[in-house]
Amino acid sequence: MNRRWHSVYLDEDACKGCTICVTTCPTEAIRVRDGKARIIEERCIDCGECIRRCPHHAKKARSDDPAMIAPADSAAAADSGLSALYELKIAIPAPSLYGQFPVKYSINEIHRALIDCGFDMVYPVAAATGGIAGASAAFLDRARYPDLPRPLISSSCPTIIKFIQIRFPSLIENIVPVIAPMELAARMARAEAKRLFPNRPKAGVFFISPCAGKITEAKSPLGDETSSVDGVFSMADFHLPMLAALQKAGEGDGAPQPLSLYPEDIAWSRAGGEAEDTGAEKGTATLAVDGMDQCVKILEAVEDGKLDSVDFLELMACASGCVGGPLTALTPALGKHIVSEREKELAARPEKTEQTLVVRRELLAEAAAITDVRSKADERSATARQEGTKTAEPASETARNAEAARARRLDCERCLRTERFPPRPALQLDSDYRRAVELMEKMEEIRAELPGLDCGCCGAPNCRALAEDIVKGLARKTDCVIILKEQYRKLLERRGGEDA
Ligand code: SF4
Ligand code: SF4
Repeated sequence: MNRRWHSVYLDEDACKGCTICVTTCPTEAIRVRDGKARIIEERCIDCGECIRRCPHHAKKARSDDPAMIAPADSAAAADSGLSALYELKIAIPAPSLYGQFPVKYSINEIHRALIDCGFDMVYPVAAATGGIAGASAAFLDRARYPDLPRPLISSSCPTIIKFIQIRFPSLIENIVPVIAPMELAARMARAEAKRLFPNRPKAGVFFISPCAGKITEAKSPLGDETSSVDGVFSMADFHLPMLAALQKAGEGDGAPQPLSLYPEDIAWSRAGGEAEDTGAEKGTATLAVDGMDQCVKILEAVEDGKLDSVDFLELMACASGCVGGPLTALTPALGKHIVSEREKELAARPEKTEQTLVVRRELLAEAAAITDVRSKADERSATARQEGTKTAEPASETARNAEAARARRLDCERCLRTERFPPRPALQLDSDYRRAVELMEKMEEIRAELPGLDCGCCGAPNCRALAEDIVKGLARKTDCVIILKEQYRKLLERRGGEDA
């Protein structure tokens, strides 16, 4: 099996060997050996559960060096030499970023804070969610795609995809064949940058991530394709600098450009948002599930054929969705609340356009073409009318906006995923079936001899996992403290007998 790059890693000096992370890992990918946690790499899905749970902050997520976006003439840039790699640094923030700051700061101000932190241009991932929703919705048509298995499972959460690859490989075909919003946003941002700044061909696209899973996805994509993302920063790392920038600028301070997003675009950051957007067509049955433990149960139900009547299944590894990601700064409930408030605010706004770019002030003259962006909605509306998707002329601003949203959904070919995710059977005892059965029988024998307390004191998550480690030659029965104690007692008894 190929080794994959992982964002999640152990800070060995900080680890106390307490085994908390061992018992909470959903893929049983951690063991404590010699007093330190060890990650079984092929099993790790970068869910970040261990990052959340470790009381000693020994589990961390690798992300990129912020020096990559430092101004070229700064000391940080000179030290790293990274900044000079890019003539234009584009931030593509995950929609969950809008749940990290009080509602009094507008989305546009949040984007401006990113510019203040060193980026030249901001292209929100939320601007790409409509395209993904449109593409996914097209596949939900059972008459048109009768051979696709049901329910179709969202491809947005890379942690869930990796989990399916490892534990539910028979459900790989259920994953909707579209790319993730991060990837589409990166491609769209690159295209806009090329159009606006033809003299700056060396553009770097940087994702602001709520989780280790997305960092790993960008660095080591799930399939064979390469990512359009050049770097990934942890959302938590940007929280304080952005908050300082927001406070310094003051509320309502003029922003580089006005910006508009739709409420459904930012709703993707919370549980249920993607399912609502994708299943907006009447008669579509959707189900949204968040949190790994719930997702496991639902995937078991899908495997058993109990959910065939559901068209679309949104599965988010983090409780509350991406606002609950391990690299966010606020508690999930608060992040979710802030996003919901913003959704209401966006819904109440009279005017919506498709303008989604924010550009550093000094570059505005160079980006004169940016004024064209607003007319895109009208152009696409016209296309939609030509294609017969709209029968009546838009009578109002609301109708025009609805039409623009519909037109945006037509623009979805670029969202298609051409590769198939391969299975990663990391939980198999052996790739040879006969040998696997032999090992399984042996494992069951050993398991029967273990006390069945599932206490984790041996450094494995439960007695079955220790039995598995023993048949693989990675552990001994005496790693179980109960068995060790019993052997010790017998030894003392024997010694006592000899002494008498
Ligand atoms: S939770 Fe895991 S990584 Fe953290 S100290 Fe305990 S064993 Fe080490
Ligand atoms: S739910 Fe969102 S934040 Fe959590 S692992 Fe999945 S993509 Fe990352």
